Amino acid sequence: MTKIIDGKAFAATLRLKFKEQVKELAHSHQLVPGLAVVLVGADPASEVYVRNKNKQAAECGMNSFEYKLDSNASEAELLNLITLLNERADVHGILVQLPLPKHINSTKVLNHIDPIKDVDGFHPVNVGKLSIGQKALVPCTPLGCTLLLKSVLLKSVISELTGKHAVIIGRSNIVGKPMAQLLLAEDCSVTLVHSRSKNIEQLVANADIVIAAVGRAKMVKSNWIKQGAVLIDVGINRIIVDDKTRLVGDIDFDDCFEKAAFITPVPGGVGPMTIACLLRNTISAYCMQYKIIDPNS
Ligand code: NDP
Repeated sequence: MTKIIDGKAFAATLRLKFKEQVKELAHSHQLVPGLAVVLVGADPASEVYVRNKNKQAAECGMNSFEYKLDSNASEAELLNLITLLNERADVHGILVQLPLPKHINSTKVLNHIDPIKDVDGFHPVNVGKLSIGQKALVPCTPLGCTLLLKSVLLKSVISELTGKHAVIIGRSNIVGKPMAQLLLAEDCSVTLVHSRSKNIEQLVANADIVIAAVGRAKMVKSNWIKQGAVLIDVGINRIIVDDKTRLVGDIDFDDCFEKAAFITPVPGGVGPMTIACLLRNTISAYCMQYKIIDPNS
């Protein structure tokens, strides 16, 4: 049995399922789910992300609307666009690609998205609902990590998440904190560590599950982890090896491979799951808006 959790293959399976769901929803409710993605400026990495999000939404049978604003577009212009998208009946999910140019207040922009269309799950209403266990739109990356962990459960290596000790390295609003909430909801015991934590290695050594979301290449070494731990690597770091740029995670994959029960690769682990979960959230948002049963809930 392979130890590698193949996020790329799993995400492809999910997309096929979502395509079927989109077809059925469009047929029974006479309206195709729609996702609007807004990009401000021309950051090359953001352009690639936006292109992929739109491409995958379209492949899944959704209506995909792309809005590109100039890098010097005003905050008011962006807020006006979001107001229009909030009101449009054919747009069920709205995503504003981050980071935004410095002259625009990101918090103000994200808070302006109607929470029921907030497919990134960053609006305070969704953050609050997640923290008190109500149905919410949940940030895509931690949602993807949870689905990957559940896929490991299916292979019966860790029999259930209940009671497992999960250590999350990183406490950002988009990954670490919502990850902690999702694992608490799965009845894990959760430890969240960050740059000011002491004895991180010792805390990680007790973990059944390690989620690394730091942004430091190959930080987690084999002597940190317990034999048989499940390792989920969110990190995306570019390093130069033999004059070539390589993508690596926050976990030293080669070093930890032997000791881990399961491990996600970078690339091909968490990354593809993030976009798949964006599609899942768009379907959830659609179902919430029409008060119908979410096929994925
Ligand atoms: P942030 O920079 O927002 O957060 C990083 C977190 O790591 C912070 O909480 C920080 O602590 C903590 N940290 C930094 N240094 C250390 C250290 N030495 N020891 C312990 N903790 C430390 O990053 P994000 O959460 O946005 O992203 C994390 C990584 O995941 C990045 O590589 C990013 O590219 C990647 N990513 C990948 C996605 C995907 O789809 N695969 C999606 C989103 C992110 P403190 O709070 O104290 O500063």
